[in-house]
Amino acid sequence: MTLEELQKELNRCLGCKVKPCEKACPLSVSPHDFIALAKEGDFKSAAANIAKNNPLPQTCGLVCPDRFCQSACIRKKIDTAIEIPCLQANIISKGGLPELDLPTSNNKRACVIGGGPAGLGALFEFLQNGWSVDIYEKENQLGGAARLIPPYRLPPKVLDREINRLITNERVTVYLNKEITDYTSLQQKYDAIVIALGEIKRRTLGILGEEQSLDYRRYLSAPQTYQYQKVAVIGGGEVALDCAITLKKQGTEVVEMFVRRRQEDMRIMAKDFAELAQHQVIIRALSSITEIHPNDNLYNLTVINNRINEQGKAEAIPNTSYNLTGYDKVIMALGSYFPKEDLPQDIPYAGDMTGRCGTIVEAIASGRATAKQIITDQTPSID
Ligand code: SF4
Repeated sequence: MTLEELQKELNRCLGCKVKPCEKACPLSVSPHDFIALAKEGDFKSAAANIAKNNPLPQTCGLVCPDRFCQSACIRKKIDTAIEIPCLQANIISKGGLPELDLPTSNNKRACVIGGGPAGLGALFEFLQNGWSVDIYEKENQLGGAARLIPPYRLPPKVLDREINRLITNERVTVYLNKEITDYTSLQQKYDAIVIALGEIKRRTLGILGEEQSLDYRRYLSAPQTYQYQKVAVIGGGEVALDCAITLKKQGTEVVEMFVRRRQEDMRIMAKDFAELAQHQVIIRALSSITEIHPNDNLYNLTVINNRINEQGKAEAIPNTSYNLTGYDKVIMALGSYFPKEDLPQDIPYAGDMTGRCGTIVEAIASGRATAKQIITDQTPSID
């Protein structure tokens, strides 16, 4: 966005008194307020206004979907909603990140297990309330699922900068490559624990030959190591979109997305459809792969057509199976989840483990809310 484009978009904001955009943000960031500051040219204060509630403000500006603040924006009744996430990312880029505000220490120490967005949200909440935090991450860097977002959507240096701002102070100790399994001993060592392990199990279809497919997380964590000509991507959500566009950017000639439901049911934004079209990704809507057959270093697929039944569910249409040939790979991109039966008992958990977080902003909010509840529970009442 040029400065002129930014100013034009800021000026479209109506400054609505009821602030529906703020109410729609899982982190209660107020577009109404930060836009008012930016309109005056005070990008520094506007950036600080965003960052006081959101510990990963530019990251969220770059990757937030349009279903939160933007969807609540009243301006859409006149023409189109203000492009709030885009404004947020640009304002942070112009105004910079404010220094982290650390209040006086209360000599309490929390343990956060998992360094993804939810863990970082919990860390932020503890720090803002005077706690010190030890954060444990099983991978070799913090960021969790945000690290799987392709660089064309989220440049790693943006995420690195925002994470470094949170952890570069004497109150935080980071332990990388450290998988925690014994929570009981940690409970004795810390004043509080929050577990935020993310979605550890990928969704599968249980179809013949599925074990030959590639997990989207493996693909997205190192796409440059895979060179393909023709790929089938199973899924119609954001991770499937990221796989499809990344494959195209890596030079894959033919990319086909197999989507169980209708195209309009895909959980992606209008601009994502435009991007898929621009990259000539083929969307095979109402289609399910039912078998994957290896054939001379390639794969043949058996596919069946679906319809949406009266209950609104996708179901296979009998006798509509057909075969497709010559795929280098099938990427399974149906997302992941945390198994309910593995949830910890009596220890607070946050983020994807709750089953209620589909986005980075929701995961941060969940981490903050879990830490806040612990802090409230440990604060003596004054009566
Ligand atoms: S709802 Fe839209 S127009 Fe109204 S204050 Fe928020 S961003 Fe501005």
